[in-house]
Amino acid sequence: MGSAGASPQTAVVGAVIFLGAPGAGKGTQAKRMVERYGIPQISTGDILREHVTRETALGMQAKAIMDRGELVSDKIVCDMVASRLSNPDCERGFILDGFPRTVDQATWLDGLLAEKSYEGKQLAPVVVEFQVSYNKLMQRLTGRRTCPDDGSIYNVHSQPPRVADTCDLCGAKLFTRKDDSDEAISVRLKSYEQQTAPLADYYRKKGSLHVINGEQDANAITQAVIKTIEQR
Ligand SMILES: [Zn+2]
Repeated sequence: MGSAGASPQTAVVGAVIFLGAPGAGKGTQAKRMVERYGIPQISTGDILREHVTRETALGMQAKAIMDRGELVSDKIVCDMVASRLSNPDCERGFILDGFPRTVDQATWLDGLLAEKSYEGKQLAPVVVEFQVSYNKLMQRLTGRRTCPDDGSIYNVHSQPPRVADTCDLCGAKLFTRKDDSDEAISVRLKSYEQQTAPLADYYRKKGSLHVINGEQDANAITQAVIKTIEQR
């Protein structure tokens, strides 16, 4: 990347792809990179919601599909990503968080990014995988507690309320959402593993995969991510 002394806020960063299971800490690190480099964090969930809210053609199409209880096709998701990445705020680079999810999407994305330059520079994407053991992920995710009244989220391990099982803001008794039950989380992690193991292999073979130990302290992880991006 940029020469020594260049400010991260004006640096040309290129495409950064974050891979990691739910609970691996992608979101936290993505936010820190957004702050450091002033580039956007792009998640398909956010783009999808935005299209639906703005009632774009893609958004209406997606909404009709979701209203039928079906999954939005790869084609629609990819079209939304392509349109998002052409926004001017992506000119120096961007962080993709949660996309691609499959090898098909990754292959499509490679084609798209091969055409793309960042302020005139061509840069290969950097892929960062946050590796966290299954047991650790279970511990992090099953610790989640939600306030039924205001939706505040706590974690009994990493972000406990001041008084056990009680919302700091309103004093309501916290509960475990059905999505956060052991069974639901175990299913989610296994499906992630099935989808993503091939994706990591795909990027490893291309030589673009950087694995970071996601069990370290969050600041140590941030340093590792910065190093990976800036030494590309
Ligand atoms: Zn509350």
